[in-house]
Amino acid sequence: MDANLSSACDNYRAYLEKILGPSAESFRQMVSANKVQLHDAFGINLFLAHAVDYIQAIRLAAGTKESRKELVRGFDSRFGVTGTRIGSRKFELIDAVNNALKHIQLDETRYRALTEQYGTISFNCLVPDDGRVLCILEGYRFDYSRVVLRPAIEALSGWHFSDLEDVLDFAHGDAIFESCPAYIGDDDDPIDQMITYCNPVCDDCAEPETNCLCATFVYDGEKGSFAPDFNHNFDFDAVMSRISGAYRIDASQVTPSK
Ligand SMILES: [Zn+2]
Repeated sequence: MDANLSSACDNYRAYLEKILGPSAESFRQMVSANKVQLHDAFGINLFLAHAVDYIQAIRLAAGTKESRKELVRGFDSRFGVTGTRIGSRKFELIDAVNNALKHIQLDETRYRALTEQYGTISFNCLVPDDGRVLCILEGYRFDYSRVVLRPAIEALSGWHFSDLEDVLDFAHGDAIFESCPAYIGDDDDPIDQMITYCNPVCDDCAEPETNCLCATFVYDGEKGSFAPDFNHNFDFDAVMSRISGAYRIDASQVTPSK
């Protein structure tokens, strides 16, 4: 790794540790307490948008030829930004909102595709609403913190890079590190696993069904709904047998061939 590349990796690691990580943690707490103020949302939005520049600096130093626009366009899929709403375009929107804040309104000739999708994007598109911050655009009205910022924060924060090579691997994208909490099976307790399985949260806002407000929101001109994030790989029988040996016996009696 040459000096230029190691400096770029070091800069992103410092940015993550000193700025993005701590601000993401504060923002998470505000979101879960429904105490998000407008400037908080614009603040973390800016830090997320600037992370793209730090990552691009690494990619550039490593020899990847791409424009910032190209990197932003593929960012969600490359860095594992989850959630089906605003599918694969969350960082594009984060970048556009940041640009709108900086320039009052997005330059519609430079961002034609986004303007066609969302209409005019100005700094007024984020609106405070009783401890939440909504994003209101043509055909869209939704909880910006939970639907867009939260998955972006999850994708970028929580990493613990052991060395600069790790940072470089991350910047290349498509990486899954054991050190990232988001990818560690959090609990090995089968009862906790069963509780999680039986109480899915909304794939779009990460809220349980009782708190999910997606049905009151609008996405691409259509009313939203609770989108349970069922774990389709969950092995119900295996987890039940770990909870209770009796389950295994009962199951074998019902299906003797097993
Ligand atoms: Zn929801």
